[in-house]
Amino acid sequence: MNKGLIFDIRRFSVHDGPGIRTTVFFKGCPLTCWWCHNPESRDIRPEQSTKHLALDGRSFEREETTGRWMSVEEVMQEILQDRIFYDESDGGVTFSGGEPMLQEGFLIKLLKECHEQGIHTTLDTSGFASIASIEKIANWVDLFLYDLKIIHDEMHIKYTGESNQSILENLKFLYTSGKNVILRFPVIPGITDTPENIRDLKEFITHLQIPTSPNPDIPTSPNPQIPASPNPHISLLPYHAMAREKYRRFCMSNPMEGIPNLKPEALGSLKTVFESMGLTVSIGG
Ligand code: SF4
Repeated sequence: MNKGLIFDIRRFSVHDGPGIRTTVFFKGCPLTCWWCHNPESRDIRPEQSTKHLALDGRSFEREETTGRWMSVEEVMQEILQDRIFYDESDGGVTFSGGEPMLQEGFLIKLLKECHEQGIHTTLDTSGFASIASIEKIANWVDLFLYDLKIIHDEMHIKYTGESNQSILENLKFLYTSGKNVILRFPVIPGITDTPENIRDLKEFITHLQIPTSPNPDIPTSPNPQIPASPNPHISLLPYHAMAREKYRRFCMSNPMEGIPNLKPEALGSLKTVFESMGLTVSIGG
């Protein structure tokens, strides 16, 4: 496949990895998480929708297409525009989605191109991929932002539509290979923050062979100025209901309808739980 389906490219992002970054959002995801805040990213086809806008008390409608087939050259052109900011802030590019691994061939081409240009690469992934795919891609990724959602497999299937077996195995592979990983835990009220899931999560993390410092044999970045990511590190992502309007616009049912945002302040005790395990804990991106 010479082109990839991209639904957004955001410049000057500061929450998707170190420094100032450009985040490239891949369209298409094999999971159906109840709390998905990018529901427009799931279908691996361009989609039409009607956007409702309000201005000075008047409302407007605009037809929009979400998702555009782009070549590697087109995406790189966008990425390279902010080269100077990456260099000055130790930033780079983040591939997110959707699930970028779903378009593995296109993703690898972009990752290789970034490395040739000396640009730091971060992959924001659910980890839902074959071990062969993860092995193929791992050497081209400087930092993984890796979602850990639910450890009990039946619960994982219930709330995301798929088993977590490959997700957990792929994560073990990344750690034993000495890769730089920041875990991301979406804190979803009544779903991922239950005492049972927190207990299972703690147990799973305890048994991971997490290197306490990045493997010096593995280049973490083509830019020697970029600090290695601290291991082990977990980001707690509080649930937010920002996507409510998107569910309506794309005529999708929203299983979290009516559930209010979780305030970051509410995560203090969870932060303490993970800190007491020796993890570096951050709240939010
Ligand atoms: S993995 Fe991410 S993009 Fe895919 S359904 Fe879950 S939250 Fe949405």
